[in-house]
Amino acid sequence: MMNKSAPASGGMERYLNEAKELLAERSRRWQRAKQMKFDTIAVHGMYTVEEAINRNQGAIIEPLFLSSAQAYRDSAELEAALSYQIPTWCYTRIHNPTLGYLEDTLALLETYGSDITASCCVYSSGMAAIENVTDTLLVKLDSKPINFVSQCQIYGGTFQQFNVRKFQERGIEVRWVLEPDNIEEWRKKIDENTRFLYAETPSNPGLQFFDLKPVIELAHQHNIPIIVDSTIASPALLRPLTLGADIVIHSATKVMSTSGMGMAGAVIARQPIVTSIPNEELKKDFALYLKRYPQRDQGGCLHPFQALMTLNDLRDLRHRVDLFSRNALEVARFLNSHPGVLEVSYLGLESHPLYPVATKYLKLADTDENRYTHLLAFRVKGGPTATRRVFDRFQLIYRATDLGRVKTVATIPAISTHLLQGEECREMACIPPDLIRLSVGAEDPADIIKDLEQALSGVEK
Ligand code: PLP
Repeated sequence: MMNKSAPASGGMERYLNEAKELLAERSRRWQRAKQMKFDTIAVHGMYTVEEAINRNQGAIIEPLFLSSAQAYRDSAELEAALSYQIPTWCYTRIHNPTLGYLEDTLALLETYGSDITASCCVYSSGMAAIENVTDTLLVKLDSKPINFVSQCQIYGGTFQQFNVRKFQERGIEVRWVLEPDNIEEWRKKIDENTRFLYAETPSNPGLQFFDLKPVIELAHQHNIPIIVDSTIASPALLRPLTLGADIVIHSATKVMSTSGMGMAGAVIARQPIVTSIPNEELKKDFALYLKRYPQRDQGGCLHPFQALMTLNDLRDLRHRVDLFSRNALEVARFLNSHPGVLEVSYLGLESHPLYPVATKYLKLADTDENRYTHLLAFRVKGGPTATRRVFDRFQLIYRATDLGRVKTVATIPAISTHLLQGEECREMACIPPDLIRLSVGAEDPADIIKDLEQALSGVEK
């Protein structure tokens, strides 16, 4: 926010000088926040005692700016602002100070433990974030048809956005990677018209996980960025930018806004990103570029009230991820030993084939301890009919297409989140009809287990 106490007159020069001071002060606050621990950043972000006292009447919680627009002192300041020559927020579709508090916190958390500089742009939903990022990179540079390469185990909405909206409706080819841990498969699918690689780790609902580093290197060898949807892990467990990824996407609707009262999406991009698109502004600060141009023109902005709600939920992210993950491990162990369960997919089970690679990367921030997220999936013996019977018997666990909540929630992806992609595409992405996805919350795990036990009691062993 800018201090507006100066009198309203003069040319643009004075605003440009003022802007230099503001930017220098912002850089000092960023450096200061970079020295803090994960929990401190989650609680404070870049909002300081000085800002509270000097500009916000001492408010210790970041203020909510509901105004749709910012007023300027004169035409010179208006022009300087709208040509992005000075720090400004202009109009809430473009930016808003309350969004800024959330964006700074997310950029700091995603780069935690590194000296990487990044920026963030928040959206009305995770899907809006995915669309804006990918469409911005899917520019045609010549007459040749363009493509992008994505692992096929991704959230159903993302699958549909790629397969239907981009490929079937607009002819932009999506090349699916079936085994993302097979670097040769990624390599074979890239050509000179590939604009980016796309990963979701761990994936929803199958919990596909793989070593990102070789795939990041491969992308950069081809001068293209890699985008990682890191919704399930959250920065409390995994920070792909620190491994070299260019862009991270979140459905901040999920574990970041765990109270379950809102929608939000976020893009955090390192400065600069790797891309062959000849646009220096896009390359240098991709998230800022999104905010200034594509998001401004397409309008998927987040409401400031929701930004504050998400920020408020974020404060104890690491502790919550710790608790949910520990509960999920207990639940997964119970399911794994139940005779009515055919198979359990949880990255924290030692028997899981991806346990070693998950153990290498999924670490609770500021500890050396592994946590394996709140998400698991299991198959019931007796096929889809038995699965639905078990699902319908849950009494404490909610049947809903949601995850990352403080309450435990279950769904059958084949008839809900991943229904529209069809049987063939579900088979490709390894989503069988007898799979139940379980997002474990903050209840006492003994009660969740009791509910699962009674629901599974009638299943043939
Ligand atoms: N990415 C992942 C991994 C998801 O699970 C979801 C939603 O479930 C999304 C993206 C889409 O986010 P939103 O529902 O906020 O649009």
